[in-house]
This record gives sequence, C-alpha cells and structure tokens, in this order.
Amino acid sequence: LGLPIIPPKAPQRRASRRIRVGDVPVGGGSPVSVQTMTTTTTADVDATLRQIAEVTAAGCDIVRVAVPSRDDADALPAIVAKSPLPVVADIHFQPRYVFAAIDAGCAAVRVNPGNIKRFDDRVADIAKAASAAKVPIRIGVNAGSLDPRLLAKHGAATPEALVESALWECSLFEEHGFQDLKIAVKHHDPMTMVTANRLLAAACHYPLHLGVTEAGPAFQGAIKSAVAFGILLAEGIGDTIRVSLSAPPVEQVKAGTHILQSLGLRPRQLEIVSCPGCGRLQVDIHKLAAQVQAAFDGFPHPLRVAVMGCVVNGPGEAREADLGVSCGNGKGQIFVHGEVVRTVPEHRVVDTLVEEALRLTELPPPE
Ligand code: SF4
Repeated sequence: LGLPIIPPKAPQRRASRRIRVGDVPVGGGSPVSVQTMTTTTTADVDATLRQIAEVTAAGCDIVRVAVPSRDDADALPAIVAKSPLPVVADIHFQPRYVFAAIDAGCAAVRVNPGNIKRFDDRVADIAKAASAAKVPIRIGVNAGSLDPRLLAKHGAATPEALVESALWECSLFEEHGFQDLKIAVKHHDPMTMVTANRLLAAACHYPLHLGVTEAGPAFQGAIKSAVAFGILLAEGIGDTIRVSLSAPPVEQVKAGTHILQSLGLRPRQLEIVSCPGCGRLQVDIHKLAAQVQAAFDGFPHPLRVAVMGCVVNGPGEAREADLGVSCGNGKGQIFVHGEVVRTVPEHRVVDTLVEEALRLTELPPPE
C-alpha cells in the first residue's frame, strides 16, 4: 500500500531525578521497576518472607509492607535482613514508625502526609533521619485521603488537587534540603490518574510511581492499569509501577511485567500467542490455551508459542511464532518456525509442544 514502515521503539523517557531504593535505581532513565505490596500481617515474619519470595520469583523489583502497629514495626529488621528485594515501609498515621523503619534498614519509606496529624511539624525530623540514612521518601497522595483544605478548594479529588497536594508536600521536605523523593498520585479513575501524572511530570523533576488505586478485581483492574500506564509510559512518564488488584500480589507483579513487556520496556518472556477462535474452530481453544500456558509457566526462555484453533490459517497466522500447534480432526499439527514438523493426537499436543520447546532451546527436560 506504500505505507511507511515505522519500527517499534521503546518510548523516550522523561528526565527525572534518580534515587536509589536499596540496590534498585529509580528515575533518571533507570529501567521501570515493578512493585507490589504484601498482604500478610507484617509482624508474621515467616509468612511475609514467603510472600516476598513468591513475588521475587514472579519478577518483582521492590516490595512494600504495611506498618500499622508496633508489632509490625518491630518485625522490620528481620524482614529487611532476609528479603531479596528492597523493602519499603508503608506508614500511615504514626510518624514514629517512620523512624523505626529507617532504623530497621528499610530501603525507602512511604508516607501519606494527608493522614499524619501535624505532619508539617514532623517533617524536619523525618527529613533529617532519612537524609542521614540515605533513605528516600515516597510521598503518596490518594484521592481518598486528600487534605480536606484542598478538597474544599477544588470541590473534588481533581487532578489539579492531587498535584497541588503532592507538590506542597514535596515543598515541606525541600525546605529542609531533602530531595530524595518519589511521588505517587493515585486515583481509581484511570484518566484522572493520567491527567494528574501528566501535570506532575511537567511540574517537577521527581521520579513518579504509577498506580490506579482500588482498580478492582483482576480482570478489570489489570485493564484499567494497563490503559493508564500504557498512555503514560508511552509518553515516557513513570519510573515505577504497581498494578493494584483485588488479587494475590503475584498476580499484580505478573500484570505489571506484562505491561512493561508490551511497551518494550522490559525484555519479553515466554509468550503464548493464541487465536480467539471463530466459526472454523475445531478444538476447545480456551481450554487448550490455558493448558499450554500452565505447561509453560516459568519456562526460562523467551519463546513465542502459538496455539491456533484450525489448520486452515494456523501456521500462517502464527508465522512469527517459534513453535505452535494448529488443531483439526482431533489432531494437532505441530509447527516450528512456520514448518509443520509433526502431527499428534489432540491429547498429546501440550506434551509435544514442551518437547519441541526443549529441543529448540536445548534445555534439559524438567526433573
Ligand atoms: Fe479461526 Fe482458525 Fe484463525 Fe483460530 S486460527 S481464529 S479458528 S481461522
């Protein structure tokens, strides 16, 4: 058609100040990192460390733990000592836990000034302690806990209100010469969150943490987050992300890594390319795709595996796949790089794909 060929490329990132969250650089062109929060009681050190191990295996870069009580604060040293990921302490209401978290060796502290009483009076001490320990502070502004004065001024948690709140809170730290800040302005509405982050990106140089808060159950929440993060990250805005889902933290991390892979901001892992099905369908494609996905879960090679519901268009539609299957008449044609190499009965399809994947990658069979 004579259309220009535009090669895909990773977005040009916004220039932001670089901070370090433990050994993970954030901002200043560093890779976009994926975060999640544990759902265990933080004081239950073993359970919390088990969950941190799970999210680490799923590709998480930074983990946040809630610190609502003294027991939780007391557990921080043991968690920090054994966590393979930098630990961010999430503090609401109780500024004294900020100091406990810094003393415990946490890699960063998240505070929500909107719900810490007389926060202005405590900033100097927090800035001093954080500065001495080289611990960055994440300022989190949520629509639900916006300063009442700003709520009254703007009439609602508008993007402008969220940004004004965040910048005012940054200024409190700046007055004490502290700039190792990261900002998150969150809203449950993706487009409000997008507008707020665009405004914030233009108004300051701090790294930004992206989140659509209370995004909902897994399916809805992943879509809302993908839409918002996709827009912002494609514009180069955003330095860390968290997909907030009413689902286990591992699912949040998987959703976050998929979003980054889709944008070319993280190397692609194994990918299942499966057809949606149509009137030519000759197999239960939904079931087969799920079985293939389960069989390849954790496969340590970025293969593209196609699962196609008929032999008419299968290999052709999946030409860019490394290997795949086209189904029909109770059989599966197994193809490698577009060439049919074997035909097997339907019940052998999944195992055969794994065999061919191991052959292609020269990996040993699993124990
Ligand atoms: Fe339809 Fe076959 Fe294409 Fe699947 S591969 S969408 S069944 S034509």
